[in-house]
Order: sequence, then structure tokens, then C-alpha cells
Amino acid sequence: MRLILMGPPGAGKGTQARFVADHFGVPAISTGDIFRANVSQGTPLGIKAKRYMDAGEYVPDEVTNLMVRNRIDEDDAAPGFLLDGYPRTLAQVTELDGMIGYTGHRLDAVVVLTVDSEELVQRLLQRSETDGRADDTEDVIRRRQEIYTEQTEPLIEVYRDRGILVEVDGMGEVDDVTARIFAALDVIPQS
Ligand code: AMP
Repeated sequence: MRLILMGPPGAGKGTQARFVADHFGVPAISTGDIFRANVSQGTPLGIKAKRYMDAGEYVPDEVTNLMVRNRIDEDDAAPGFLLDGYPRTLAQVTELDGMIGYTGHRLDAVVVLTVDSEELVQRLLQRSETDGRADDTEDVIRRRQEIYTEQTEPLIEVYRDRGILVEVDGMGEVDDVTARIFAALDVIPQS
């Protein structure tokens, strides 16, 4: 299974990504987590990414694309993967098409979690109290939402046109959302 999990910041992608990836026996690949690990280890990639992340901006495509390419080339991703937080720009969509096409596979589905925007801000502010993420302040949260609307939301139509978009209501209890995702994906033929 080759899947993408999309949705605005705070939609619950990280939480759901782990459940969905386990369900299909593929690795969950979160670009945000990989960036954060690099930032905390002070690697050259982390140093490059940090200022964009702190401002709520996207890390430049060439940096992000190379990182994803290397990650999905690893052995555990050969049977499939679930991408959480990638692609986020149209250029990344094209790049991912190339990466998947090169191996002779295809993308099976793109799940979009839909959540009401005020609920999103509240969830993120709550997360800032528990997780202490540097980019969960109210200003940065709003900036991340704006960027999502400008740069990432248009991807939804791209995948809808391809007939692989699965929209799932992301409101409510975590378990209910997971059940909705499984119900929507279990009817999709796996490649
Ligand atoms: P996330 O944990 O998915 O919210 O990502 C945290 C931050 O990492 C984002 O606000 C961006 O600065 C950066 N990031 C994660 N994924 C991408 C991506 N696909 N393209 C560019 N920047 C990204």
C-alpha cells in the first residue's frame, strides 16, 4: 500500500498515521518528525530546516524532496509506506510521482482529514501545553494554517481528479476517526 495522509495542521495526521501504517504493515514516514529529529541532533539538515519550521514556513522543496527520496529508498519502505506531511506543494507532488513511478508502483490513495478551523487552533494550543513544540504558538499556528491553505489545499483537487482521494471526517474521538479511515481504505484494492 502506498498512501498519503493529508490535512491541515492539527487535523490529527500524526496520531492516525501510526494506526493506519500499523494496520497495513507499512512504515509511517513523517517529514515533520524527520525534520524535528534532525533539529534536535543538530545535523546539517536540521540546521537548514530549523528557521523555516520555527516561522511556520515550508522547508524548501529541494531539501525536503531529497530527504523523502532517501527515506523511501530504505528497505522497510519497499512493500509500501504511508506519508504523513508530504507532499505539501505541487512541486512535491511531481517529485513523488517520479519516485513512485520509477519503482513501477502507483499511489493507492490519498486520505484527507477534514476538521473545522477553530477546532484546529484549539487542538494545537492544547498540544503546545503537552508536547512543547516550538511551532505551536498562536501566531505560528495561524501562519501554518495560511500556508496550508495557499500551498497544500490545492493538492486535494489534483488527487481528486486522479480518482484516488478519500475524504474522512477528522472531528470527534481518535478511535472513531481511525475506524472511519479503515472503513474507507479497506475497500480500496491494494497494489
Ligand atoms: P508537521 O509536523 O508535519 O506539522 O511539520 C512541521 C514543520 O516541518 C512544517 O511546518 C514545515 O516547516 C516542515 N515540513 C514538514 N513537512 C514538510 C514538507 N513536506 N515540505 C516542507 N516543509 C515541511
